[in-house]
Amino acid sequence: MNNIVAIVGRPNVGKSTFFNRLIQRREAIVDSVSGVTRDRNYGKSEWNGKEFSVIDTGGYIKGSDDIFEGEIRKQVELAIDEADAIIFVVDVEDGITPMDEEVAKLLRKVTKPVLLAVNKVDNAMRQQDAIEFYNLGLGEYFTIAGMSGSGTGELLDKLVEVL
Ligand code: GDP
Ligand code: MG
Repeated sequence: MNNIVAIVGRPNVGKSTFFNRLIQRREAIVDSVSGVTRDRNYGKSEWNGKEFSVIDTGGYIKGSDDIFEGEIRKQVELAIDEADAIIFVVDVEDGITPMDEEVAKLLRKVTKPVLLAVNKVDNAMRQQDAIEFYNLGLGEYFTIAGMSGSGTGELLDKLVEVL
């Protein structure tokens, strides 16, 4: 049993907020070899009796300028290599951004399970706004609010099913 789940996405979509809600125990950062591997938080979680490790990526990547795109790409590629399942977080407030498209392009090629989480869906109106994320070509999505925990149960039900 060593199920690894990676949370990926561009900065400020709410990855760490969701990660912090998810994990019960933060683990020591084992890798200090490169900037890339250090730029992550690890934690342990459990849902429906199934345990898994969670990686929160891109902790030190701030802002959303083009210069960060290479770093995000590295994080996503690393996650694809390492993880058994990937949660791709996007932000309903911003809609689809070019960087989301880039990440989606990488993830569409992946054979591992990819779950699309449309975050910051704090109210019913935003459920409607979330529909555009079908255009990322990743199939069904889960609307969540990492801050309140709304919708995260359905996402986690699916996650442990595919792990
Ligand atoms: P990260 O850069 O992807 O790790 O994003 P963070 O977790 O640091 O969150 C970025 C911002 O989005 C913070 O101001 C959070 O409070 C906010 N945020 C996270 N989740 C939600 C949510 O469910 N709803 C709303 N409205 N804001 C959120
Ligand atoms: Mg973060």
